[in-house]
Amino acid sequence: MKIVKHSFDGVIVGAGGAGLRAAIEAAPHMKLAVITKLYPTRSHTGAAQGGMSAALANVEEDNWNWHAFDTVKGSDYLADQPAVDILCKEAIDAVIELEHWGLPFSRLDNGKIAQRRFGGHTVKEGESPAFRACYAADRTGHMILQTLYQKCVSMGVTFFDEFQVLDIKIEDGICQGVIAYELATGDIHIFETRAVTFATGGFGKIFKVSSNAHSLTGDGPGILYQKGIPLEDMEFYQFHPTGIYRLGILLSEAARGEGGILRNKDGERFMERYAPSIKDLAPRDMVSRAIATEISEGNGAGPDSDYVYLDLTHLGAETIKKKLPDITDFVRTYVKIEPIEEPIPVQPTAHYAMGGIPTDVYSRVLSDEKGTVLPGVYAAGEAACVSVHGANRLGTNSLLDIVVFGKRAGQSMVDYVTQTKPNSISDSASDDLSKKIQNLIDKEHTDEFSVANIRKDLQESMEENAKIFRTKETLEKQTEILEELRDRYENVTIFDKSKVHNSELVEAIELDYLLDMSEATVASALARNESRGAHSRQDFPDRDDTNFMKHSFAFKKDNTANLKYKDVELGKYEPMERKY
Ligand SMILES: Cc1cc2nc3c(=O)[nH]c(=O)nc-3n(C[C@H](O)[C@H](O)[C@H](O)COP(=O)(O)OP(=O)(O)OC[C@H]3O[C@@H](n4cnc5c(N)ncnc54)[C@H](O)[C@@H]3O)c2cc1C
Repeated sequence: MKIVKHSFDGVIVGAGGAGLRAAIEAAPHMKLAVITKLYPTRSHTGAAQGGMSAALANVEEDNWNWHAFDTVKGSDYLADQPAVDILCKEAIDAVIELEHWGLPFSRLDNGKIAQRRFGGHTVKEGESPAFRACYAADRTGHMILQTLYQKCVSMGVTFFDEFQVLDIKIEDGICQGVIAYELATGDIHIFETRAVTFATGGFGKIFKVSSNAHSLTGDGPGILYQKGIPLEDMEFYQFHPTGIYRLGILLSEAARGEGGILRNKDGERFMERYAPSIKDLAPRDMVSRAIATEISEGNGAGPDSDYVYLDLTHLGAETIKKKLPDITDFVRTYVKIEPIEEPIPVQPTAHYAMGGIPTDVYSRVLSDEKGTVLPGVYAAGEAACVSVHGANRLGTNSLLDIVVFGKRAGQSMVDYVTQTKPNSISDSASDDLSKKIQNLIDKEHTDEFSVANIRKDLQESMEENAKIFRTKETLEKQTEILEELRDRYENVTIFDKSKVHNSELVEAIELDYLLDMSEATVASALARNESRGAHSRQDFPDRDDTNFMKHSFAFKKDNTANLKYKDVELGKYEPMERKY
């Protein structure tokens, strides 16, 4: 295996919105590399549709305190309120900055940035749904990604495209560098660096029906977890209410923001019963549970009574074409339905990881529940947990999170690099990874131990036992299944033995991270004997603030996780009953 060595002051792993925003901040001050397993503009940020929230007050009265109130209430009071204040306050400048860099936002007639409604966002702390989401039709993430990438290109940022980081070297608690695999050649690259930001995105591929891209396998969290760094709040995984039936492809909440209505098989607008004040625009955890309940009570549509309808027919052809062009095209292409005339079959789809690598508000990675900082290592975006989303993220707060905390990661890298001296990494740093890869290539292929089969069993069982509703019983069952899958994974084999673009080889390593993410999710969910936000235990249906107003920290231990806890940082909003 050819080994190539590079030396940089700072490395960013990931070229989605979080990684690129960090790069823009760091690049002028250091020798910087961005390493990305996908070509940058293929990152999942580009798939984001609906919007990015900021209290610009372009349509109606608004202020960032109301945004913070909604975010904390939406999080079911698990978010750290000082971090939420930063998110909502810095949102306004973040949107203006993107506008100045050329992002083509949709506009109001008066020329200001247009804003639309989104679930859980309200004016005056719950009075009525707020127009707070800034958008570019239903291609907001695409525009953010293109804008940030163009800015990076104009600044001359160095990219290593289609290089997959598979290891980090930490010695005496200090970061020495990262090791990557070059997809085009099969070569191993050692990156000597003292500052690393992980911005590797989410891990929706632990479930079968998901809105997430195939690449979202939890690499950053997995790499650190395997080095003893904990994962925070892993039991909180968000299901988006409106995935296209069976396929999971997302139909943005913007559809309901523009007036779309959910109906059961009888045509009833059932959200009136579950959230009388804001109905279809309740937060996602509540709407997903409402759909699952309708289905389990026999109100689902179709031959198997297992979906509900998203009805856009009353919006009119003009609104649909102007404001929801892409998602309605998905419906025409994949379901062969004309959404202007017919309601669309939908079901909840695995969408967003609230949990991830624990960080402080400076995007510095924390190595324990006491808040110990791991020098030189940062995380931002969906891979990280800061925590601004707590137990349930509000729509449009992630595109915001990636730019606000991506920028902070970049700033922290600059601080660290200017205060420390260049390091050196040994030539043997890649030995472990080379050995792992060689083992995979040498082992004879069998179907039983193929990557595709183990992954399929993982996704199907997580879907069955750890999805929207959970119980002690389903989670214990899944713990046993995960143990069996882990045993099978120890013997995983690949069919493709080539050096060039061997995607099966990297998928085998990604499967290790998917198993890690699932183990941490299930262990954290089993230990949380309450229901809060997206974590819904049928055997413990109530929120328990006395015992569980705290973040969980899962530390890898054999095939499961050891759990520790950290108190939630409260602020001006006292936990109250979450009614909408
Ligand atoms: C369909 C869809 C629609 C959405 N719509 C919205 C919306 O309207 N509003 C909103 O706020 N949020 C939305 N979200 C959520 C939001 O888009 C994501 O949470 C956010 O974009 C994540 O950005 P990121 O930078 O953290 O990661 P990503 O954009 O996922 O980027 C991850 C990057 O990491 C790289 N990477 C991963 N592993 C490795 C590795 N091992 N080595 C090297 N590189 C690696 C990848 O190449 C990629 O560049 C949506 C999500 C989906 C799936």
